[in-house]
Amino acid sequence: MKTRNQVLELASFREFDLVVIGAGIVGAGIAQDAACRGLSVIVIDQDDFASGTSSRTTKLVHGGLRYLEKFQFKLTSTLCQERALLEQLAPHLVQDFSFVLPLIKGSFITQIKAALGLTLYDMLAFAQPGAQPHQRIGRKEVLEAAPVLDREDVIGGLKFHDAITDDSRLVLEVLKSASNNGALAINYLQATGFGIEQNKIKTVVCRDRINGQEITLNCKACVNATGVWIDHVTKLIDKHWDERVLPAKGIHIMVPPSAFETNTALFLPAYDGRYIFVIPWQRAIMIGTTDSLYSGELNKPLPNADEVDYLLSAVNKYTGEHRLNRSDVTAAWAGLRPLVDPHKHAFNLNQATDSGNGKHALSSDQITTANISREHAIFTGPGGMIGVLGGKLTNYRLMAGEVLEQVFLKFPELIHPAARTSRTQRMMLGGWLDRQDYLTQTAAIAAKARKLSIEPATIAHLIATYGKDAQRILEVIDHEPQLSERICPDFPPIMAEIPHCVQAEMAVSLEDLLSRRVRLAQLHHQQCLAAAPKVARLMQNILSWDDKRITAELKALQNSLGSMEWEMNVVKR
Ligand SMILES: Cc1cc2nc3c(=O)[nH]c(=O)nc-3n(C[C@H](O)[C@H](O)[C@H](O)COP(=O)(O)OP(=O)(O)OC[C@H]3O[C@@H](n4cnc5c(N)ncnc54)[C@H](O)[C@@H]3O)c2cc1C
Repeated sequence: MKTRNQVLELASFREFDLVVIGAGIVGAGIAQDAACRGLSVIVIDQDDFASGTSSRTTKLVHGGLRYLEKFQFKLTSTLCQERALLEQLAPHLVQDFSFVLPLIKGSFITQIKAALGLTLYDMLAFAQPGAQPHQRIGRKEVLEAAPVLDREDVIGGLKFHDAITDDSRLVLEVLKSASNNGALAINYLQATGFGIEQNKIKTVVCRDRINGQEITLNCKACVNATGVWIDHVTKLIDKHWDERVLPAKGIHIMVPPSAFETNTALFLPAYDGRYIFVIPWQRAIMIGTTDSLYSGELNKPLPNADEVDYLLSAVNKYTGEHRLNRSDVTAAWAGLRPLVDPHKHAFNLNQATDSGNGKHALSSDQITTANISREHAIFTGPGGMIGVLGGKLTNYRLMAGEVLEQVFLKFPELIHPAARTSRTQRMMLGGWLDRQDYLTQTAAIAAKARKLSIEPATIAHLIATYGKDAQRILEVIDHEPQLSERICPDFPPIMAEIPHCVQAEMAVSLEDLLSRRVRLAQLHHQQCLAAAPKVARLMQNILSWDDKRITAELKALQNSLGSMEWEMNVVKR
């Protein structure tokens, strides 16, 4: 990727075919698709890349088994297709793994429901390469896979497959692919206003949040992919805009493997009819998620103690005497789903301005966030702005393709022969040319890393996190072997990643680095905060920070992690 300064220089004095506002997974996907179709495109984010919802997910690339209960067969089938494709396009980053749904004494109805649901799930994924049908497994196998489960209660289990990723790294990979195809991508550039001529957006006025300067981007078309901020941005043009996003909050907690012994992911029916995911991820156990309507501050939401307790007690129902409590939680974070308000969406379909699937309009008494559709909507807003919201991390590529179709419909002057079809279904992510290249290169990277005495867990982490760019981290270690030191004691990331993330991935702050380039802030708050000063000192050398800046960076990181109030207060059950 280019540096911020290079992007700013290239962005001045030119007219883009497309400005994409928002560099979460959806904006990144649109920039990639547009660039591959030969459009000149820039994607901007007011904060860091993926700092919104796209770094705060359950990290699943999945068919969405839960959506079958809501009869969303088409959505599930599409998600299954995308899951299979992404496993091929990003083999280092999107990987098959299995869930176990434990069957518990006396849960006959749940068993029947789950078996039927999984049979349907298999059918919807049947034609996809590598599809593996679910299996019924015995009590012994379940308890071997997840020794933490209550031996008295478990009578067997259902095992099924999905895929897991690292969400913010997926966004970065898609942005890198966009960049390699000619797109510009820049963080900390906030859209603050629009220049409109003849009812069409001609300029996007932006504030550079690093130096406070204003910059104007000229464009032919503009896409608003700002997730839960979509109405805020649209209101910069029309302050009477009828809001249509419903933010729904979901939190996750992390506990160490020693506190919750499982080698498999678990899919646990909760007492309120929802399902809780328990997923071994990056040497910690991730537990999520909640689902509730949210009306607070959109920037950096934080979990509260009730939400943490809800997850703890949902999981504790399955573990007999063994109880997780607040003191086991090493990290927690919250994200906001940008759900499509079913009332507004149905209304606007009647206005014939929306595309997407508006079939799931609900009556007002049915609107709880768990039963609002996860499908997306695309609309034309004021000034010809194309807006997109809803959807999933998993189907970003398809959403991007639909947005581009809508752009061409509204701006036919942008169509040229090469632009007609999307090529992203053939674009490998991670810098690999094809699967063979992935296999050859990863073997070479691993061999070189072993020569540098890098431990196996770190080698696996570097390949999964940076793809082919893992080579560049090894070059850093070649020159400065002391940087092969771990950042935090319990996790594989190493100090040598820091120069690479600053110089090649636009990490600007300590939080960018520890929350989204490596994921230590989502894994272990205390270890992350303890390591922060040494990380800041290395960033200081690269970015010439003064001591005042270091203090500000440390404080900002602490604020973004929240107070961890549940740590102080062990829940009694
Ligand atoms: C708890 C939770 C769990 C989830 N789990 C999964 C899962 O496991 N699998 C899955 O497929 N999906 C999952 N999802 C859904 C998925 O995460 C979201 O649908 C997706 O990340 C939304 O991406 P986005 O790009 O639309 O929004 P965002 O990622 O929020 O991106 C919008 C961006 O716009 C930027 N922005 C806002 N205003 C401006 C402005 N004025 N100028 C410039 N930039 C601006 C923001 O900074 C932000 O980075 C989950 C969601 C949640 C909340």
